[in-house]
Amino acid sequence: MLIADSLSPIRLLPSQLADQIAAGEVIERPASVLKELLENALDAGARRVDVELTQGGMEAIRVSDNGHGIASEEMTLAISRHATSKISRLDDLLRLQSLGFRGEALASICSVSEWEIVSRRLGTKSAYALHQNHSPVLLPANHPVGTSVWIRKLFYNTPARRKFLRADRTEFRHCDEVFRRMALARFDVAFYLKHNSRQVHRLPAAEDDIARSRRVKQLCGEAFARNSLVIDFPYSDMRLWGWISKPDYSRQQSDLQYFYINGRIIRDRVINHALRVAYQSVLAPGRHAAFILHLELDPVSVDVNVHPTKHEVRFRQSRLIHDFLIRCLREALQQSGSVSVEPSDLGIQESSGVYTMIHQHGATMHHDSTLPGAMHFGQVLTWLWDRFAVTRSDTAYYLIDVKQTQAILNCRQWQQAYQHGQIKSRPMLIPPRLSLSASQTEHFASQHSLITSLGFDVTELAPDQIILRAIPTWLHGFDSQSALLKLLDQELLADTMFHQIETVLLDQPFDITNLDNKQFLISLAVHRDDLTNCWRTISQTDLSDWLQTRPHD
Ligand code: ADP
Ligand code: MG
Repeated sequence: MLIADSLSPIRLLPSQLADQIAAGEVIERPASVLKELLENALDAGARRVDVELTQGGMEAIRVSDNGHGIASEEMTLAISRHATSKISRLDDLLRLQSLGFRGEALASICSVSEWEIVSRRLGTKSAYALHQNHSPVLLPANHPVGTSVWIRKLFYNTPARRKFLRADRTEFRHCDEVFRRMALARFDVAFYLKHNSRQVHRLPAAEDDIARSRRVKQLCGEAFARNSLVIDFPYSDMRLWGWISKPDYSRQQSDLQYFYINGRIIRDRVINHALRVAYQSVLAPGRHAAFILHLELDPVSVDVNVHPTKHEVRFRQSRLIHDFLIRCLREALQQSGSVSVEPSDLGIQESSGVYTMIHQHGATMHHDSTLPGAMHFGQVLTWLWDRFAVTRSDTAYYLIDVKQTQAILNCRQWQQAYQHGQIKSRPMLIPPRLSLSASQTEHFASQHSLITSLGFDVTELAPDQIILRAIPTWLHGFDSQSALLKLLDQELLADTMFHQIETVLLDQPFDITNLDNKQFLISLAVHRDDLTNCWRTISQTDLSDWLQTRPHD
């Protein structure tokens, strides 16, 4: 059978089949259809979008907008592959303002469903309908300026894919999430959603702060609305605005995290890292911040044509953006000042340890910026959970996150040494053998020389097995084997590499037994202004309260 196939002549795929294959890339379920249709409506300048779903969108999806519509002579073109009105040259990709641009969505969707499109172009008097069974013949229709697209029986002609769809409820949940993302992207547009004829969301256009906050509350819940800070930071030609959770509000999951760049929702490693760093000192391990953030910048400085679903981006200056985010968020979190103790439904009771205490005692704690010169952190009084040091100087008590401090300081020194070609390694007494997963093997192969230049001496034993003979000295105290494996889990990018390393180190167990306390406190004192997230002054009352409430571990 296979042999017969391999003898078949090469042919061009019939276009319907080519579209169906392409559909596999972007159309996975009703929610992906909804996403594409909503993007088209917004790209058409709609001020109002109505969505109606039946049976989780599997039976029918209808999206109507009041955008500029499609010219009748372009209706059939709109549903052919690589037909787009949004770009005409590769160069346009560099200054993209629209959500779509690949010209594939409608063609893909129509190749795997029953469909009908009705549209009336702005400035014209009649509407036309294009229906699957009559295409390419246009029929006169009734429709105000704008476009309605009906999609029915998704995957009816590709049963293998239809099998992958889940219960109505599940598919609806995915659609609802897509709808929320869009509604949080564009406050100036009215959005309405019905499911099985029942109205689910009714969101009039929100033109002012109050209306915008009302929409946030409607979509993200009362608890988030009450426990979030509204931020707005303009900076040269960038602007970061939105809602971020206060330090004492956190979630068990990262389900309430929306980040937009120029109105497009994205997931990005650099951004995620910046958010994690900004929140790291106020969140208990395993807890997640919640946010709706909009970053606006010159489209030229970000490339969205990285992935078919357009969720990933590439920045021209990722470091600048990374640091800008951290600076804004830290400032906002710090300005939020004393932290309320009001217990919230998803709040602090579940978190444990020092973090909770820091929060509960937030009101009496402050960063000590009044002491002149190199401050003395004094001497270590006690250790908490093998990670935090409580120290005492003549004037104050301090709580220090030793692991965090060490991770940051190590990474900086490591980076400097790397830049100056002065990497130092330490041989392993008994070189361990490490087994690699498939993706680690791949990254090891492509990044071997980079890993070596960071100070690891690694040799390949088998394609998926390596031996670790030496490690960079800056890993001292951290679990070096697991750190190396974590690094091999990802692709290291030249301009964020040391941030990636820092994240990995913060995740590693840290062994304080060999720590040189004195040296550590001196380094901390020297860099204390850069490390304000790593230490706090505490009052004696706090201290005794804490020591009494210390959990028995
Ligand atoms: P893309 O959005 O990537 O251009 P699509 O296949 O989604 O590709 O749409 C193809 C073209 O059809 C768009 O470029 C646009 O000109 C037109 N179009 C699709 N939906 C709408 C709509 N709701 N209103 C106006 N024009 C639309
Ligand atoms: Mg599109």
